[in-house]
Amino acid sequence: MNEVKVDKPVIMNKKVAQMIQHHAKKEKIVYVLEDNKDETIYMLKSIMRDSQTYNVVHDKVTKSWTCDCPAFKFRGRLKKEFCKHIEFIKILLDEGVIIDSI
Ligand SMILES: [Zn+2]
Repeated sequence: MNEVKVDKPVIMNKKVAQMIQHHAKKEKIVYVLEDNKDETIYMLKSIMRDSQTYNVVHDKVTKSWTCDCPAFKFRGRLKKEFCKHIEFIKILLDEGVIIDSI
């Protein structure tokens, strides 16, 4: 996976953020669907296949991550803690990329 390289802190408009996110993971755009005191819901949208979206939920209380993709459901079998969608969101957050609300 390509790394997102930006200086922290960084504030970007939606267009610039989308470009960086697109570059980082070629076919995905990320939005914040919802952000409240309990959880943040991110939506990953494929720009290659228009109908395909995945929702990644960060539970702020338990600090746990979930995703509604098939890989997350079967991650135990794959011996992985997270799916690629959660890993991607975590990289964006670690790199200080601000994700716009939809
Ligand atoms: Zn996923």
